[in-house]
Amino acid sequence: MSDINAPASLPLQGHHALVTGAGRGIGAAITRILHARGARVTLLGREAARLAALARELERPEEAYAVVADVGDEYAVELAFASARSTLGEVDILVNNAGQARSATLAATDAELWSDMLRVNLTGTYHCCRTALPGMLARGWGRIVNIASTAGLTGHPYVTAYSAAKHGVVGLTRALAAEVARQGVTVNAVCPGYTDTDLLREAVANIAARTEQSEDEVRALLVARSPQRRIIRPDEVADAVACLCMPEASAVTGQAIPVCGGEIMK
Ligand code: NAP
Repeated sequence: MSDINAPASLPLQGHHALVTGAGRGIGAAITRILHARGARVTLLGREAARLAALARELERPEEAYAVVADVGDEYAVELAFASARSTLGEVDILVNNAGQARSATLAATDAELWSDMLRVNLTGTYHCCRTALPGMLARGWGRIVNIASTAGLTGHPYVTAYSAAKHGVVGLTRALAAEVARQGVTVNAVCPGYTDTDLLREAVANIAARTEQSEDEVRALLVARSPQRRIIRPDEVADAVACLCMPEASAVTGQAIPVCGGEIMK
């Protein structure tokens, strides 16, 4: 469903995008670009003030809505989607970006850490897909983009729970893409490498504390893993997401696209 009346500079005009974890980091960059391309946007997250501040900064604040929910709470997700729909209309673009990454050896990964990682990264994605999908199928058009990770495509040490959850996100993406392939809905994953956000800053600080290295040394080690020898910017991940949301991207589905400077090549 391409809106032929949408100006070329606003290709997503007429669409309503809901972005989870929209208040900061990669989610904020995704929110900005989808709005800049014309979409009405719902910003979902846990911190009302942060979401509201970003919504106010956008060019058309009347086309932005902030709503609080923990993606791991199915009932809260349903309520948040209902209020997003009644404010900005049916959701036809869903970006499952909310996530957390805590590291530990497997021995130190207790049941709580394990279930927390699965709950926010994987079950949260399931809750939002399940809530958004019926409306997309009813209208015969939709875009779902799940933010997984290079940790969803390969193994890194000390992140078994996070990596299992993100591999799960990639599996969910592929299976759902196949399920709805003939119904106008595409489902893809974007898999960032190390990206400059709070999540990475916290990870670097943790590794530094555990290994008695400085944060600069840890950062240099991460940079060395990338053929481009650099950390990814949030807006680079957001650009990939925006491409997948375009009406013209209708043939791209079931893909897990690394945005990682060549760290993963598939
Ligand atoms: P970030 O700066 O820590 O932001 C995470 C976002 O997720 C925040 O907006 C946070 O909301 C939200 N969030 C966390 N738990 C939530 C929950 N239970 N319910 C609702 N929202 C929740 O991290 P980021 O780097 O932008 O990460 C975004 C996504 O990219 C995540 O899925 C992450 O796994 C993935 N990723 C990141 C990297 C990287 O190097 N940065 C690499 C690969 C993949 P609050 O503001 O309410 O806390």
